Amino acid sequence: MLKSFDVLQSLCKRRGFIFQSSEIYGGLASCWDYGPLGVELKNNIKKLWWKSMVHNRQDIVGLDSSILMNPQVWIASGHVENFNDPMVDCKSCKARFRQDELPAEKLKEKTCIKCGNKGTLTEPRQFNLMFRTFMGPVEDEGARVYLRPETAQGIFVNFVNVQTTTRKKLPFGIAQMGKSFRNEITPKNFIFRTREFEQMEMEFFVMPGDDEKWHKYWVDERFNWYTKLGINKNKLRIRPHGKDELSHYSKATSDIEYEFPIGWSEIEGIANRTDFDLKQHAKHSKQELSYFDPEQNKHITPYVIEPAAGVDRLFLTFMTDSYTEEKVKDETRVALKLHYELAPIKFAVLPLLKKRNDIVELATKLRNELNSIGYSVYDDTASIGKLYRRQDEIGTPYCVTVDVQTVEEDKKVTIRERDTMEQIRVPTDQLLSVTHDLATKGWTETTKTIPKWTNQST
Ligand code: ATP
Repeated sequence: MLKSFDVLQSLCKRRGFIFQSSEIYGGLASCWDYGPLGVELKNNIKKLWWKSMVHNRQDIVGLDSSILMNPQVWIASGHVENFNDPMVDCKSCKARFRQDELPAEKLKEKTCIKCGNKGTLTEPRQFNLMFRTFMGPVEDEGARVYLRPETAQGIFVNFVNVQTTTRKKLPFGIAQMGKSFRNEITPKNFIFRTREFEQMEMEFFVMPGDDEKWHKYWVDERFNWYTKLGINKNKLRIRPHGKDELSHYSKATSDIEYEFPIGWSEIEGIANRTDFDLKQHAKHSKQELSYFDPEQNKHITPYVIEPAAGVDRLFLTFMTDSYTEEKVKDETRVALKLHYELAPIKFAVLPLLKKRNDIVELATKLRNELNSIGYSVYDDTASIGKLYRRQDEIGTPYCVTVDVQTVEEDKKVTIRERDTMEQIRVPTDQLLSVTHDLATKGWTETTKTIPKWTNQST
């Protein structure tokens, strides 16, 4: 339904989801700030991932390791040597490309896909994607440190700490969320590829030999996570990597891809990292990084299955998938049909007349009560029609309206559902129990026995 990211980008700016970083200074390429609604959606994505990965299970625990690490980590992991993208420049128009963005015949003719000139492309040059900085006052080689390009290594180097303190037996996992940094050659497509982004990674340690079974398990598990949160199944697919695409540490990787306006693109990678990382760190640190298996009475190095997703890319996925435009009478209604759990605001309480103190007071009181069910706001800054449209556009599943009839006659309020625009009237003293049901069971189930109507003008 969404035709280009431009539409989303302008909605994000207009409604306060995402702003360009340091905008007043002209911005900074590929850096973005999440506004009041953006931070809510982002936090909800992280909360839901953490809940499904850590809290709902007994075999995975969490970690929050530091971004800066001993530089030996990145030598051992292979990132210093291998985390490169070959880059090609056009000597004529100065455009820069990742080699894999250029079709083979263009590369052969050294034809620039931007200016069309032949013979103007440089030979591919290796470009390391890690950001470098210096620790301490002296800027020499000995003080060089890296901003982590993935959160995974913080997990591997803590494998023994976590295993011995939690006494977990194989198979078990360690989950971590946090910022990662990659000096991407061609960041683009809004928040799809940025240089600073947030990852959610989980390393699942298994017995060697059980790895393929667990790889399949995690691909299915992660695919289902997306569909449970409302992502259209037809827009999701699983794509196993070809042998030539695999990262240096991987035996097999399957990407979960989503069909964006830019085409099918990776949103999460599930890799079989084998025992590569633990063995590399054991070798470089000269520490024992193994697991004592009581059954076999020996030390083994576990294999690792890693589901790795990007928070920002999932943000873009949920926004893209939920974006809808519909004709309502002569107008186009824009709605973000986000899953209740993802929606930044769950309930908006709207007074029909803001000049009536009794209406405003009751609406404020109800918003405070509803906030115990889910994040709720009070808004009286426009007419009711405009307020509904605004809440639709930011994905609020339910609006609660207090009107004259509420305070003068029946003590009932209207609840309007975002996707169907159906409405029900419920007594204020039942509002908490009805909205609790809405939060847990959804609209259809909750309103089975309550008369509904649709008012298309609101
Ligand atoms: P790509 O091939 O697109 O560069 P990758 O295969 O290197 O990505 P992984 O290392 O598997 O990516 O990272 C796991 C996840 O982290 C990705 O699926 C994506 O959601 C997210 N991610 C990686 N790089 C970026 C980036 N530059 N900006 C935003 N998210 C990213």
